Amino acid sequence: MEIGSPLPGTEPPRDCPRCPRLVALRRECRIEYPDWWNAPVYTFGDPNAWLAFAGLAPGKHGANRTGRPFTGDYAGDLLFATLAEFGLSRDVYDARIDDGLVLEGAIIVNSVKCLPPQNKPSPAEIANCRPFFETQLAALPNVEVIIALGRIAHDATVRAAGVRLAACPFAHGAVHRLPDGRQLIDSYHCSRYNTNTGRLTPAMFADIFRTALALRNQTSGRNSSTTAR
Ligand code: SF4
Repeated sequence: MEIGSPLPGTEPPRDCPRCPRLVALRRECRIEYPDWWNAPVYTFGDPNAWLAFAGLAPGKHGANRTGRPFTGDYAGDLLFATLAEFGLSRDVYDARIDDGLVLEGAIIVNSVKCLPPQNKPSPAEIANCRPFFETQLAALPNVEVIIALGRIAHDATVRAAGVRLAACPFAHGAVHRLPDGRQLIDSYHCSRYNTNTGRLTPAMFADIFRTALALRNQTSGRNSSTTAR
């Protein structure tokens, strides 16, 4: 199945050369798993979304394999189930890119587009990919609320907004008003590790979604501020 981007013209090239370590891993994967996607993973969702999810990076057996964010790995099970619970998707997620799943009002934008070793991009790799991330957030004029999945996505979003990290520290459940009026909500990443250890429960994740819904249409003001919740 051919994969397209909801934000054409904003994606890195398939052979993006900016991160030598990630390029090397991409080459290894293309040799070992020639049927996998093994390339920068496109954004997925509704280009008219009011809610954006800032993700970390493709998982090896998830997005890097299938070519769609969070598709095929454990983190996607909770994310897509919760999106469905809150009416933000149509059709059933079945961990395949041809499952027919459509996001409505929501979009997923990874802060790093290529598979990093051990799911840990380096600071330089995050910085290398930031122009793509920034361009994509800027290409979503209707986004009012951003949910950052984990600290790396939080930091990338704050930097993309031109705000000092010290002014917007990461904390699960914290809400930050960004200079453009968008609201940023922090969440622990919905990874297998976080859910297995109870750091993030489905109920806690649902609360993040409830906060997003409550904040919708409340995006205004020009100054950055932080509220612990
Ligand atoms: S992570 Fe981003 S900048 Fe680095 S190689 Fe992949 S697409 Fe290019």
